[in-house]
Amino acid sequence: MDNDSLKKIISHSKEYGFIFPSSEIYEGLNAIYDYAHNGALLKNNIREYWWRSMVQLNENIVGIDSAIFMHPKTWAASGHVDAFNDPLIDNKDSKKRYRADVLIEEFIEKLKSKIQKEVQKAEKRFKEKFDKNQFLDTSPKVLEIQKKIDEVKARMVSAFEKDDLQEVKKIIDDMEIKCQISGTCNWTEVRHFNLMFSTKLGASEESSMDLYLRPETAQGIFLNYLNVQKTSRMKIPFGIAQTGKAFRNEIVARQFIFRMREFEQMEMQFFIKPGTQENWFNHWKDKRLSWHLNLGIDPSLFRYHDHDKLAHYADAACDIEFNFPFGFKELEGIHSRTDFDLKSHEELSGKKIQYFDPELDKNYTPYVLETSIGLDRMFLAIISNSFKVETLEDGSTRNVMSIPKQIAPNKLAVLPLLKKDGLPEYARKVMNEFSHEINLVYDEKDAIGRRYRRQDAIGTPYCITIDHQTIEDDSFTIRDRDSMEQKRINIEDLKSIVDSELKLKSLLKKL
Ligand code: ATP
Repeated sequence: MDNDSLKKIISHSKEYGFIFPSSEIYEGLNAIYDYAHNGALLKNNIREYWWRSMVQLNENIVGIDSAIFMHPKTWAASGHVDAFNDPLIDNKDSKKRYRADVLIEEFIEKLKSKIQKEVQKAEKRFKEKFDKNQFLDTSPKVLEIQKKIDEVKARMVSAFEKDDLQEVKKIIDDMEIKCQISGTCNWTEVRHFNLMFSTKLGASEESSMDLYLRPETAQGIFLNYLNVQKTSRMKIPFGIAQTGKAFRNEIVARQFIFRMREFEQMEMQFFIKPGTQENWFNHWKDKRLSWHLNLGIDPSLFRYHDHDKLAHYADAACDIEFNFPFGFKELEGIHSRTDFDLKSHEELSGKKIQYFDPELDKNYTPYVLETSIGLDRMFLAIISNSFKVETLEDGSTRNVMSIPKQIAPNKLAVLPLLKKDGLPEYARKVMNEFSHEINLVYDEKDAIGRRYRRQDAIGTPYCITIDHQTIEDDSFTIRDRDSMEQKRINIEDLKSIVDSELKLKSLLKKL
């Protein structure tokens, strides 16, 4: 996959009603997108898969839906006012703006891929005698690159820990990191840029209050911790899950819906006993990766990435990265957030936010393990993995979206072969049988082959074709999106396919 395939995905998404650029008639808004019919259906299904796997399948996880507006003190306590900054740097020649940390991280990735190339070369040279570990330990070239990686990483971690932006700039200079556009090293100084959007609450200038649009949904969970724990009578360990919009004034908003300024998060905060965070961190790392793999996506497209540079609230953090068309990037974060947030809110609000542990017979501030995934990023992972342009035996091509069946926007398309002889009426009867359970499409326009192509392009797993034989013996054709195989079945067979393959429950059962 490459940027060319990203372009294809973007235009396919528009043409087939998944995603539109927002405010398009006014030339659009940078990094803001609207979801069209098929996109909204797919997005709802992904959200539903997440929500049910968290809330329905775990007795000790409850859900909430907190407001986007929160008291401004929230963001002082959480550290977002002081520390939700990205280190910004501009290239003076191209005028392109970058995140300094991303520039350095990409530089490290390049060095890592150089090692990879050395390994591949050696593999070819030594064939079956090749010992990868020995090679990594002894090859002078690899050792030299690895030394450089370790050095840059150590400098970067220390610079960010000390918030030393001059040192960050110096790393970029010393490593001669170049702008991708101008190819030069002509950089400005690195400076902080706060990512929160602000707005005002209230009618008059004097009485209005400065507010922020929430940059993460997590704080809505922390502020409700006590209310939820009491009303749902939860005992530690327990979790609170929520999905909702978040807003960030991203410096570099590129790559379609990967980095948006308005996006949706699906977050779960798991409240635990202090000292148990390492176990729960590993537990949720496993659980979340299984959730992704359960969709049947190739496991080699996922990898863990442990953070070298920790956020101000975390004592451990790991990303689940996905191989997007532009390479491996963060899809989900698993963060051990300690008791930072609850303690800060306790201090600033003056309210006691603790847990009474009946087993220990004492109060403590719970530690928190967070899983946080962007719904839009998950959407991009699904569509970029599903979208294929296939060449068929007759030399023609088809665009197909092999979206996991249970989350596909529409589950069945019902197609009467002709617009007469009672075929449309029969098709409607089949529609009525399932329309209260799953999303279906009815299509009677154009030749059947073209209708199949339309459904392939929006990822409908099965097409049901009603023909004259259907009227005689109540059988119809079912066509599989991926294999394009067709066979004749009856309504009872179809009911069992719907039940066993197309509903979310079949996905949840496998978890
Ligand atoms: P990044 O390093 O890519 O900026 P982050 O580490 O700031 O991401 P978190 O604060 O951990 O991200 O947010 C949790 C999840 O929310 C991310 O894993 C991602 O899926 C999603 N997310 C964050 N920022 C955006 C954005 N601007 N657009 C879309 N999704 C986002």
